[in-house]
This record gives sequence, C-alpha cells and structure tokens, in this order.
Amino acid sequence: MDKLSPMMRQYQQIKQQHKDHLLFFRLGDFYEMFFEDALIASKELELTLTGRDCGLKERAPMCGVPFHSVDTYIKRLVEKGYKVAICEQMENPALAKGIVTREVIRVITPGTISESNMLEDGKNNYICSILVQGKNFGISFADVSTGTVFTSEFRSSNLMVDIVNELQRFSPSEILFNQEFVNLTDVAKYLKNHMKCTGELMEDEKYQSAVVRQQVEEQFGKSLDDLGLSQFPLATGCLGVLIGYLIETQKDGVKRLIDLQLYSEHQYMGVDLAARKNLELTETLRSGEKRGSLLWVLDHTKTSMGKRLMRKFVEQPLINPVQILKRQDAVEELCKDLIKRDRLMELLSNIYDLERLMTKVIYGSVSPRELKALSFTAQSLPEVKQELSTYQSSLLCDLNQRISNMEEIHNLIENAIIDEPPITMKEGGVIKPGFHQELDELREIRDNGKDYILQMEEKERERTGIKKLKINYNRVFGYYIEVTKSNLADVPEDYIRKQTLANCERFITQELKEYEQKVLVANERIIVIEQEIFEELRKFVAEQLVTVQQTAEAVATVDVLCSLAEVADQYHYTRPEIVTTGQIVIQDGRHPVVETVLDVPFVPNDTLLDTSDNKLAVITGPNMAGKSTYMRQVALIVLMAQMGSFVPASYAKISIVDKIFTRVGASDDLSAGQSTFMVEMSEVAHILKHATKNSLVILDEIGRGTSTFDGMSIAKSVVEYIMKSKQLGCKTLFATHYHELTSMEHEIHGIVNYNIAVKKHGDDITFLRKIVRGGADDSYGIAVAKLAGIPAPVVKRANEILKELESGSLATVQTNSLADQIEQAPLQIALGAPPVETVEQPEHPALELLRQIDPDELTPKKAMDYLYELKQLLKS
Ligand code: ATP
Repeated sequence: MDKLSPMMRQYQQIKQQHKDHLLFFRLGDFYEMFFEDALIASKELELTLTGRDCGLKERAPMCGVPFHSVDTYIKRLVEKGYKVAICEQMENPALAKGIVTREVIRVITPGTISESNMLEDGKNNYICSILVQGKNFGISFADVSTGTVFTSEFRSSNLMVDIVNELQRFSPSEILFNQEFVNLTDVAKYLKNHMKCTGELMEDEKYQSAVVRQQVEEQFGKSLDDLGLSQFPLATGCLGVLIGYLIETQKDGVKRLIDLQLYSEHQYMGVDLAARKNLELTETLRSGEKRGSLLWVLDHTKTSMGKRLMRKFVEQPLINPVQILKRQDAVEELCKDLIKRDRLMELLSNIYDLERLMTKVIYGSVSPRELKALSFTAQSLPEVKQELSTYQSSLLCDLNQRISNMEEIHNLIENAIIDEPPITMKEGGVIKPGFHQELDELREIRDNGKDYILQMEEKERERTGIKKLKINYNRVFGYYIEVTKSNLADVPEDYIRKQTLANCERFITQELKEYEQKVLVANERIIVIEQEIFEELRKFVAEQLVTVQQTAEAVATVDVLCSLAEVADQYHYTRPEIVTTGQIVIQDGRHPVVETVLDVPFVPNDTLLDTSDNKLAVITGPNMAGKSTYMRQVALIVLMAQMGSFVPASYAKISIVDKIFTRVGASDDLSAGQSTFMVEMSEVAHILKHATKNSLVILDEIGRGTSTFDGMSIAKSVVEYIMKSKQLGCKTLFATHYHELTSMEHEIHGIVNYNIAVKKHGDDITFLRKIVRGGADDSYGIAVAKLAGIPAPVVKRANEILKELESGSLATVQTNSLADQIEQAPLQIALGAPPVETVEQPEHPALELLRQIDPDELTPKKAMDYLYELKQLLKS
C-alpha cells in the first residue's frame, strides 16, 4: 500500500469498504475499474483491458466506461447479479488542492435501481425484506425509484403459500431475509425456479427491536404508534432492516422513501398466485406477455405513473363497497362526455414521470433537461386542474384537491433555465441571462471578448505603426500578438516574445495577459456559478417532495380512471350494481380479452349465482365448447367490478367476494418436481382450505389427470365438500366432463346444471357457445376429435368402441379390434393376398400395444396419447 501512488492509495482505501462490490471509480469523464474488478468488468462488459501506473512494478489492470453512458453498463452488470458501488468526485477537480476527494455515493443492486432508463416504465421495481418467526412473518416492499413502501404482518396457516403469494404479487428483484426464511426450503426452491431475484441473508442483530424501531421512526419522522406499527413487531422488524440496508447502500436515496403504507391481507380481494396466472391478469399463461392479458385490455393510460397504478388496480381489487362506488362514480362521469375526456387525457399525456423524476432530484442525478421536463409538467397541471374542476364526482374532486399547480417550481425553473438546456451541467450554458447578476457580468466578459480584442488590435497597430499586426488565440498559448518578420524592427520593448515561426514572431503584453486571465477565470466562474444555481434549484425542488409525490399519485389515479372510462366506452361496458344480497347476476356477460381478439362475434352469456338455490353451477359440454372462457369471464367480471371498473355485460349485479380461486387446466410443474395430477390436487387442496363463504371458486376439470373412476370420485366429493362444509358453501363454477356429476343437482340443494349448447348434425357438431340450463346429453369427445383432424378410420373405430363400451360388451371390443383392422391393411398391400393367409406373420406392434391397454385405467388424455402412438406404429 505504501508504495502505491496517492490516487491508487485512495482507491484501495475505498475498495476495502466495498470488497463485495464492483467499484466504479470516477476519474474525470470516465468511471474506471482497477485490479480484480477490471478483470471481471472487462470480461463481462467486453471492454478493452488496459493498465495504469500505480506506483508498483507492474501496472494495475484497468478498464473504464464513459460517465455519460454508465447506466447501460451498470444495468448489464446488475442483471448478471453483481453489485456496483459508484464512487464520485466530491469536488471540482480543477479547483481541488491535491487529490480530489472521492466517496461512494451509492451501491446499485437489482432492488435499488432508481434510474428510469434502467427500469421498465409501467412496472415498479421492488426490494423486499422478509422476517419469518415460527408461523408468522413480516414483509416489506420498497420501490426506491418511486418512493413507495409497503409493510405488513401475516399470521399464517400456510407459510409457503402466503409468502409465495406476497412475493408474486409484488415480484421484487431483490430479497433480504432472516435465517428462519432460509429454513423454508420449499419457498427457497420456489424462488429459485420461478422468480428472477437476488437474495441476501441479513445478520440476526440487524433485527433487534431497538435497532429497527429507531430506523423506522427516524426514516418516517413518526413514532411506531403514529405509524400504526406498534402492534406489528415483525412488520416493523423487516421494515427496519430494509431501511438500514438502503441507508447503507444509498447515501441520499433513502430520503425518497416517504410514502409508507401499512397494508393487511384483508384490505384487498385475495387473488392468489394460481388465480392471477389462470385469469391472465397481467400476462398470458403461454407467453408471459402483457398482450392478451386483462391489463392489456384495460390499460389506456397516458403516463408511466398511471401505467404502474393500473397494474396495482388489476392486482389488488377492492373489497370496500364505498371505495368501489367512488371509483365507479368517477368512471361513469368520465364516460359521459367523450370530448371532455379526450381533452383531459390529452393533457395527461404531457405529464412526465414525476415519481421517478423526483427520485433523480433527491439523488442529485437530475439533469437540466429533466428539471425542465418537471417544469413542463408543472405548466400542464393548472389545465388538468381546470379540466377536473368541471367534474362533480367526489373522487375526482378529491383528486383535484390533491394535485398541486407546482407553481413555484414552474416559475423558478422557467426563470432560471433556458428553453432548451444541454443534457449535462458540465459546460454550463444552462442558466438564463438575467437570472444572476454576477453570471451575466462574467458572460459579458467572455462573450464580448471579440470586440475587446479587435479594439486592442487597432490600438496596437496605431501604437506600433505595424499595419499587419494581428491578435490571435490558440489553445496552447492562449492570446498572442503576431508580427511578420519584416515588421520586427517596430516591435515595442514591452512586447514579450513567446514563439518564433518561419515568417513571423508571436508576442504577449501585460495587458493581453491580464485580459486572458480574466476571460479564463470568467469561464471557470461561470461554470461554478451555474452549478451552484442548479444545485439550489435542485434543493428547492427536493424540498417539495411531499407535494410533488401527492400530485403524482393523484394524477396517476385520474389517468387510471380515464383509462377505465375509455375502455368502458370503447367496448360498451356497463356499470355493475354492487350489492350485499350475496347474488352475482350477469346478463350478456363477455370475456373482456377473448372478445377483443376473436374474428367472429363473441356470444354473450348470462350468470346467476347466489347463496341459496344457485350456489354451485355444474357446467358440462364438449371440449372447445367454451366452458373455460365462460368461467373465466365470470371471475374477470367480478374482479373488474371490484376494481371499480365497468364490466363487459349488458347488466351486472355483483356481491363483493373476499377471494377468487381458480383451478384451471393442466400444468406440470416439473421444475418443482410435481406432476400434472399432483399440481392439480395441491391446488384443489389449497382452495378447500382457504376459500370462505364469500369466495368465488372456479374449478375446471377436476380429476382428469387420473383414472376415470378415481377422477370422478374426487370431483364428486369435492363438490359435496364445498356444498356441505360450514366454512365453505361458496359460489362455485364447476366444469366437468363427468356427466355423472349432473345427478347431484337432484341430490344437493343449491347445485344447478348448465351446459354449453352444441348443435348436432349426424356425427358432426357446431358450437353455439351459449350456456343453457341442464346437463349436456353427450360429451361429444369423438366429434371434437374429428373436428381436430383425427383420421376418419380412427374416428369410425372410436365410435364403434364407444357403442360397445356403452352396451357393456367389452369382449367384442377385443375380438373385432382396431388393431385387427390395422394389422390386416398393410399385409394386404404387401402380399396382395387375403388376410386369412397371413396368420403366420409376426404380430404387429400396434396390436401388441392395444393388448396392453386397459380402457378402465385410461384418462382421456392418455387415450389420445395411445391413438397417436398407434398411428405412429402404423406408419413405421
Ligand atoms: P376444453 O374443455 O377443451 O378446455 P372449453 O369448453 O373450456 O374446452 P374454451 O377453451 O373455453 O372451451 O373455448 C374454446 C374456444 O372457443 C375459445 O378459444 C374461443 O375462441 C371460443 N369461444 C369460447 N367462448 C366463446 C363465446 N362465448 N363466443 C365466441 N367464441 C367463444
């Protein structure tokens, strides 16, 4: 260390404090990395590895990136799981005496990114902290880029399910946890397989109650009592640790976190992970894209803040009727006048991402252009407020109250910053003339230099009589007087020779030197003054954080409400009635997403569920008839109603549900070591344990993944349990292929049969997509197989087998089997002789396979697999 050059010694001292981080060390216009960090970064970022003299025998390995494009490089490293420490120059290098002071201003980890260009606009980026203690846990989430913090505490009956649910809901990119969390191996496995986030085990002492209490109280400037946290030690514990971590890593950024929300699992409709996925709320099941999801249909927001909030609206439907009605009133009013709404939405589109701009203001990384954007936004706000003031609904009035004109910010920035400022403050040229007297004077000196020099040139020509005397400037010598060789005799004594060229000589004078100094100093001072003014502006804006944050949130809400109104108008949604009768009545309901992507008209359907005669609907009908679409549409309509949105129906009356559960379709979770049937059964188990009387349950094809009798027995007993258990009895839609279940309508009060109608023409069917009372008369499996393109002989034979199965004559099935026909066909072709004479031929493998099949053990899926296998065997 002693031998190192002073700057490298400074580097090493700082690096000692950041052993686990890649240290980006600011050197002028570059961030440089040295030694081991340089080796890693050059490899990961494909940078040229160079070296730098460091006082030791060998040069230090070095690589660097320009400061203006640092974000892209940091993003790539953070995505690869590295943590990056940013070490800045804390003083102007030109003015520093000795080594420039440097400090790490923050450490960037996946969950602490605040730069908007590294983040997705419409999505929050959360860091999570979780504290597990026995059966309970506390959980906190913070978005450093928008300043929002959530915390909660759960008394859990199923830790794995509750934790995973919360994690999935917020989908954090980084998690801090205690040792007990590590012991939950199922959760750890789930995180590893299903979530893209990094994790860090926090030491036990960080969770000490006195420590966390102090962190939380200091951060939010209130006592635990006032924050509503005194009864929640686990919520406080994880929150305190989170704040501590952010203070350690984000020098100033933690100031941004002002908006603490203590939430409870009972505050919103419970939509668990399976339901969120199956209902495709924010992304599709198949491709994981937003396109094709409910969010995709509903999101017509104009601002990034609105986009983020719309996602929350979809993920967190309300259960409080008063809040729902308030939103509905606002949507209804916005729906009424298209021209007014258009005007408001147009104004909203001028509003920048105030939340993330404010983060940059707090961090000190805001650029002149971004401050100007803030002012531009502020300029639009009075118009937004004016437009909003023409609305009467209480929520819109309330939101208008919360939006500030941000007049002071606007005036100050407009007065101070030029109309089109440069991206950085580096070269100055940001502050408007007339804003600062000294700055104006210095600029005068700098800019009027030309005239001054011309005057001086004229004066010197007169004084010396040298007509061709010139005053010039270059970067190396600064200002100089140039005299050609032929005129050297007339050069006065006070000229000081600077340089001799082939046909001229260059001089300076005392006056010229003094002038040059003045200009130089002026230039430096100009930049310093501009930076000081900019810093003052930044501080002023930073002090308005609470006002701007409140404005941002209100604008985002207006944006979301406008978007809901826009969609309601465009797709002819209606306002659902919110009731407490326990009924769900939907007339002409449609699936909000399917109806927008179909090439044919969507067939609307009705729904009636209640707490007595119509608790559970058993829905039968062929594959592809539209059972899943129908059930999902009911769940989505209820969810949309509780968001405060209008719904795709001609009429709807919705009783608030506390949770929505879905068990839809078959999905293997092989990465977590679970087969299709196992996943299905664990999802059913979860629903039966957690649904309540007030829940809405969607069950699609229970028991399909096992043999027919097993499956049917499970399906039937699940229905019985739902209907008879005291804790359940919830509104349920139950789609099934087991016709036998339709008999339950007569056995248990509250079960009602429905089917999705089809039209028969001989062996063919047409889907009518209409839900009607009663059970389906047939499962039409073979007709659907025919529609799907199963070859005619297979369909024909399947019909024969079906008939024989239905008449109970299994023996005949074996003697006159499909395999017999298959076996004969190729032989006839090969030998050109009648089949009887081919008895000696070895048995065809298809026949062998058929013999092994036990139809009683077959699931419909397995039967299809066998059909394919048989076809394949025939081909070979
Ligand atoms: P399976 O039992 O095979 O899962 P299903 O009965 O659940 O089939 P869905 O998947 O709901 O059938 O629907 C099949 C297709 O029918 C949908 O992809 C959609 O294109 C169309 N469809 C469903 N419902 C309607 C409707 N009401 N109007 C128009 N088309 C519809």
